[in-house]
Amino acid sequence: MTEKLARDGGTPVRTTPFPTWPVWDGVDEKAILEALRSGVWGRNTGSQVVEFEEEFAAFQGTKYCIALVNGTCALELGLRVLDVEFGDEVICPSYTFVATPAAPLFLGAIPVFADIDPATFELDPASVEAAITPRTKAIIPVHIAGQPPDMDGILTVAKKHNLRVLEDAAQAHGASWHGQGVGGVGDLGSFSFQSSKNLNCGEGGAICTNDQELAELTWSVMNVGRLREGAWYQHERLGWNYRLSEFHGALLRAQLTRVPEQMEQREANARYLDTHLAEIPGITPQHRPAEVTGHAHHLYMLRYDKAAFGGNDRAAFIKALSAEGIPCSPGYDWPCHEQNAVKNSVKEILQKLGRTDNPLDRPLPNTDRIAHEEGVWLPQSALLASQDDMRQIVGAVAKVQRAFSMERAAERV
Ligand SMILES: *Cc1c(COP(=O)(O)O)cnc(C)c1O
Repeated sequence: MTEKLARDGGTPVRTTPFPTWPVWDGVDEKAILEALRSGVWGRNTGSQVVEFEEEFAAFQGTKYCIALVNGTCALELGLRVLDVEFGDEVICPSYTFVATPAAPLFLGAIPVFADIDPATFELDPASVEAAITPRTKAIIPVHIAGQPPDMDGILTVAKKHNLRVLEDAAQAHGASWHGQGVGGVGDLGSFSFQSSKNLNCGEGGAICTNDQELAELTWSVMNVGRLREGAWYQHERLGWNYRLSEFHGALLRAQLTRVPEQMEQREANARYLDTHLAEIPGITPQHRPAEVTGHAHHLYMLRYDKAAFGGNDRAAFIKALSAEGIPCSPGYDWPCHEQNAVKNSVKEILQKLGRTDNPLDRPLPNTDRIAHEEGVWLPQSALLASQDDMRQIVGAVAKVQRAFSMERAAERV
């Protein structure tokens, strides 16, 4: 006898909700009220955003941080600062949020997708190298779930072929590679402070770097082409207004004070899940190489092998696990190379260039498998629960595994 699944009317493993997101208290209220009462609401004359930039740079271990309106604009601005232009190619994963390939497209450049390593879900340097052409200008490694990909491998390829590296660290606040905070590993790193992210102010973003010249250029393009020491109406280059408001700066400063403790808690819980979920047949947690000295755990990712679950597909697993009271999702089940936004925009640029080949035809077997069949995510907020709660996650996955594999056994009789 196995326990009846909640999906089939059995008792769920858990009925109490997991922690909600975002987290705030009187500290955040006070910060926002102070910004309001100061009467200085814009960064040009305020101090909140500037102080946040210093604090976040220190947190990431980078020399510079430039705050801006969101992660999508940060990626676009980052590529612009790295001189990506019409007709260039930028290599990135397809297993990412659409903003990653949208960034080169905004500039008339073509995103060329490289495949991921199925063990880590992260960009594979060998696949990056195979995607390089004479038009390649830059690489965007994405720290999906808050774990950097093999940055040694990616930087080696970049150096060999003289390419720039823009890290998409939208999910990776506090993550590090060999002890260097992300954002300072490549030429530039872009961050998001959108409401779901581990550090958030509703909507916001930043670029971090160790390169002074790139930092000055980033600041200028963020601020309508002004110079830090220039006159108010002096515009040296074309720039957007991507300035963040003082309310956002104040809230980010308050939120940042909690991040180290939240990271520690997610780390302990993720380590627990890594050990215990791996004992369940058909479940393989994201592999974490030793070089990943800091993992932000924006997501907890694992691979689902239906063969060990009586042949039931991922959708059935997600449904059954959700019914047991565990928040989970199939994640990026619609990879970027299948998105019309990307396909049609690439086609338009190729036409303008008179190109008859299509870089989107490159096969991405690992991305397809993870996106369509095997990838499963738990949200970062679930990792802010207690270790007892983690035990329930493991218990629920094990319960579904037993029931699903028994189902098949029963059918065979
Ligand atoms: C959230 C996210 C972005 C975009 O950031 P926004 O602030 O939402 O514009 C870009 N890349 C990745 C990987 C993300 O997760």
